[in-house]
Amino acid sequence: MAPPQQPPRTINRTTSDGGTIIFNKYHLTRLLGRGSFAKVYHGRSLIDNSSVAVKVIEKPAAEDPTMEPRLVREVAAMRRLNHQNILKLHEVMATKTKIYLVMELAAGGELFTQLTRRGRMKEATARFYFQQLVSTLHFCHQNGVAHRDLKPQNLLLDDKGNLKISDFGLSALPESHKDGLLHTSCGTPAFTAPEIIRGKGYDGAKADAWSCGVILFNLLTGYLPFNDGNLPNMYRKMHTREIVFPDWISKQPRVIIHKLLDPNPKTRMRVEKLMGLAWFKKSLKPDPAVEDDSISLNLIKCKTGVNAFDIISLSSGLNLSGIFEEKVKKEWWFTSTADAEEIKKTVVGVGERLGYGWKKMKDDVAGLVKGRVVVLVKVAEMVAEMVLVEVTVVDGGDGFSEGEWEELKVGFQDDVVSWHDDVQ
Ligand code: ADP
Ligand code: MG
Repeated sequence: MAPPQQPPRTINRTTSDGGTIIFNKYHLTRLLGRGSFAKVYHGRSLIDNSSVAVKVIEKPAAEDPTMEPRLVREVAAMRRLNHQNILKLHEVMATKTKIYLVMELAAGGELFTQLTRRGRMKEATARFYFQQLVSTLHFCHQNGVAHRDLKPQNLLLDDKGNLKISDFGLSALPESHKDGLLHTSCGTPAFTAPEIIRGKGYDGAKADAWSCGVILFNLLTGYLPFNDGNLPNMYRKMHTREIVFPDWISKQPRVIIHKLLDPNPKTRMRVEKLMGLAWFKKSLKPDPAVEDDSISLNLIKCKTGVNAFDIISLSSGLNLSGIFEEKVKKEWWFTSTADAEEIKKTVVGVGERLGYGWKKMKDDVAGLVKGRVVVLVKVAEMVAEMVLVEVTVVDGGDGFSEGEWEELKVGFQDDVVSWHDDVQ
């Protein structure tokens, strides 16, 4: 008699309301927005019924060569920045064709929609958003991150009407500073500082300050300061600081906008300076205490297991190891398409060559033992035809050296799809 057929493993399935359930964990329904790289859907957790936003990046986008650095930057920036006005990233998941970033929902939608629906804002309302924007950017800059793509479409609102900054895909982390200046041209022309357009290297924080000037003008008028259908004309206006202020903008915000829209980044007002001005400080709410900084990483690791980024690398061919910046290594893991038994044989073989004895601990766990050093090797099937192998140094600290790890890697070379040198 034929053995009973296993039901096929499905990661995603469609629901009768036209939505999709992903990983048996989130029910995705309405499209919240569309960006240059992704579609963002409303999601509901099947575990605790909470609402989230899920950014879905299709694999064709992932094949775009600029996608990998964008994704790494976005995840790294969101992980690094734990602030009430920055969208939190809950977890990262992937299938062979899509990457999912599960994040905090900004239920109020884009600030831009408010602006187009209701027209220009009263000064006090504009200041309320501007204060949140500027204080949050200051926090980002202090943590070594510049946003670089500030515009009302990337400024979202939560259900209480507070600002949530999104889309750190173009953000620059300090690692990208070669000579202290950034060199990638990015952003959206109408919001982008002239020095970025000139392409001679720029200071990310100063470039963000420029965008703040454009945004404040935009909030107070409903239109853009250098609006011109003709791009060369627009750049000329930017360089000559040709700003026409309508009557209703009062003196202080005029001065602020003028100082922020200085085409020379050296003399442009800094965010710190701006924060000290009386107009800015009026009715300013004190910042709530900053939360523990390690939360985002833990969430990613606990909720998805250690394999999320590996699956992404595997499914998309992206090397996302840049997401983990820390240097301390105590654990390594990799994925392979070889079957678990073969992997175990290789582990034993390589272990023996390196002078390790072999001990079976449990069914899926093997131990390599040499003197005081115990290295646990756990082989687990993740999804069909893919095994995750975790290598943990349990005892003996430095006994298992980098060199030995490299040897172990060589032993697996043919089978391994993706390596990951993990951190603690
Ligand atoms: P891209 O990187 O492709 O530009 P974005 O992150 O900017 O994508 O998202 C595209 C749009 O989706 C945003 O402009 C916004 O309208 C919507 N969106 C993104 N994230 C959220 C969120 N957390 N909550 C609600 N809407 C969101
Ligand atoms: Mg965007």
